[in-house]
Amino acid sequence: MSEPDCLFCRIIDKKIPASIAYEDELVLAFHDIAPQAPVHILIIPKQHLATINDFSSDEQSLLGHMVLTAKQLALKLGVAEDGYRLNFNCNHLAGQSVFHTHLHLLAGRAFHWPPG
Ligand code: AMP
Repeated sequence: MSEPDCLFCRIIDKKIPASIAYEDELVLAFHDIAPQAPVHILIIPKQHLATINDFSSDEQSLLGHMVLTAKQLALKLGVAEDGYRLNFNCNHLAGQSVFHTHLHLLAGRAFHWPPG
């Protein structure tokens, strides 16, 4: 179900433009508008789920599909071998700013650990 006030639902509905990297019936992947690495793609479920806390066992295969979509994109973009980071920010302390769950795929540079 699409939420009219949700930015990412509006991107799914093509009411707001985005640079789309991949789309199927379950997920949409598009380039982040403010990339934090040479590759920065967001993989989102088409179903509106505000945070990762809203996922249950009912969404287990959707969650797996999001991760495998990220891996496929990493392979396609030629960054899988060198490495990449997959990241969900959940709620305020983690820095979540858009409340439609998204998986960050970041690649093309070295990342620090522990994260800041
Ligand atoms: P987070 O802070 O984890 O909620 O990440 C939200 C991400 O969405 C940020 O990296 C933003 O740069 C990105 N973002 C916000 N608006 C757009 C947009 N219209 N198109 C693409 N990415 C966006």
